[in-house]
Amino acid sequence: MIQLTSATAIESAITKARTVKPLVRVNAFGSYSVMNKTTGATYTVTCEKRDGKRFASCTCRAGELGRACYHLAAAVAAHIQLASERAASH
Ligand SMILES: [Zn+2]
Repeated sequence: MIQLTSATAIESAITKARTVKPLVRVNAFGSYSVMNKTTGATYTVTCEKRDGKRFASCTCRAGELGRACYHLAAAVAAHIQLASERAASH
């Protein structure tokens, strides 16, 4: 579980996500399946908000070690988009 403070903190992961272009599937608001289309490896990324702070975690090895992996970056990008769409529809 890592705390999302700013985009710069996960910048290298975002850059990698742009290169790998993993497939992000929405399981539910805040829960995403991220698949590497080349290897077929799929991990679950969870995004949540606690006390006004945003947290995210990934089930891959790097994610379990508390590192911002590209799965997490890709899911967070999808989550932010989904959250803004939800906010716009209310
Ligand atoms: Zn990961």
